[in-house]
Amino acid sequence: MSSRKIALVTGASKGIGAAIALTLARDGFDIWLNYRSDHAAAAEVARQVEAAGASCRLVCCDVADASAVKETLGPLLENESPEVLVNNAGHAKDTLMVWMGEDEWKDVLSVHLDGFFLVTKLVLVGMLKRRSGRIINIASTSGQSGVAGQVNYSAAKAGLIGATKALALETAKRKVLVNAVAPGFIETDMVAGLPKEKIVPMIPLGRIGTPEEVAEVVSFLASDKASYITGQVIAVNGGIYL
Ligand code: NAP
Repeated sequence: MSSRKIALVTGASKGIGAAIALTLARDGFDIWLNYRSDHAAAAEVARQVEAAGASCRLVCCDVADASAVKETLGPLLENESPEVLVNNAGHAKDTLMVWMGEDEWKDVLSVHLDGFFLVTKLVLVGMLKRRSGRIINIASTSGQSGVAGQVNYSAAKAGLIGATKALALETAKRKVLVNAVAPGFIETDMVAGLPKEKIVPMIPLGRIGTPEEVAEVVSFLASDKASYITGQVIAVNGGIYL
């Protein structure tokens, strides 16, 4: 068995999660790479992770599906326990509240909050027993400021920030550190359809961020350098929300 520590990154077949998986692999972690549906993209990220010298285990499941999470992660956790968990899987279903269907409300809350709950609950046990671990939740500016057209997403990400702070308090004595990273606009599929010409002028740094710029902060929070940071929300947003 490898002596390298394991990092489990959810939603890592592309975008921010893929950049986090690759950065943590370069930092020396073996990667458990979760994703939901894009097998080809996940296999390509796994290839890059392995090229960086890490092992990569693909963990395909919907993080919001309790039995799928138990079936895929449960057996792995019988033998090994990640040192780092990055709860990144997510998506938005934007529409004004007056048009929002109950399915759009529940789906977005579920992927971010049920996903956080189901995966973290399983992985936390090993961290508490070992008395070490880092949990990093990918929130959003939307959960800090609120964004029109994202009542579901803002609620989910604000909820994730609350959960981050509460869990940080519960686990501090066992040296399990829990933080959130709150990205602003980041260049991924998620923002592909947005009008960049309207968004960029609103960003003080004058550009959309990159997945790698988010991954660097996660890398820091997962490292020994961040040993006195817990319960915090670190914004990576080009100054759009202060
Ligand atoms: P993305 O490029 O659309 O990638 C989303 C990833 O999440 C994919 O790997 C997808 O897997 C996975 N995923 C989605 N639903 C899932 C589920 N139910 N179970 C497991 N995996 C699931 O999105 P992104 O922009 O990188 O966003 C990543 C995280 O950052 C999200 O939590 C998002 O809310 C947050 N965020 C993004 C931005 C931004 O501007 N991009 C800003 C703030 C916060 P498959 O494709 O394989 O199905």
